[in-house]
Amino acid sequence: MSQEVEIVKKYRFEAAHYLPNVPEGHKCRRMHGHSFRFELVLRGPVEPDTGWLIDFGDISKVVKPLIENHLDHYLLNEVEGLENPTSEQISIWLWNRIKPHLSALSEVVVHETCTARCIYRGPGDS
Ligand SMILES: [Zn+2]
Repeated sequence: MSQEVEIVKKYRFEAAHYLPNVPEGHKCRRMHGHSFRFELVLRGPVEPDTGWLIDFGDISKVVKPLIENHLDHYLLNEVEGLENPTSEQISIWLWNRIKPHLSALSEVVVHETCTARCIYRGPGDS
């Protein structure tokens, strides 16, 4: 009998952005920064030998280069694929770059502020 688990790993980065498509006068149109945080949820069976789903270190091997080379202390608007860097677009951007390496990825949660976050669970069926 396989035991299905869900593990969660949290990361953070500091970055600037502005939202080019919001109406003139909207505060998000001005350049500003956030202490972004995001969580990756991975779901799958516990491997009998190791006793875990995946080594947390193996998640970081995929994610840390993304953060260091593209996100942390960058202006997100200048990152390829993040020309309109809403939390939604950042979630999808992360999913598209992490999922091919970590097939157990089931959820990306991007926190833009303490009270606002976006959850992406991959492309829908429709
Ligand atoms: Zn913002």
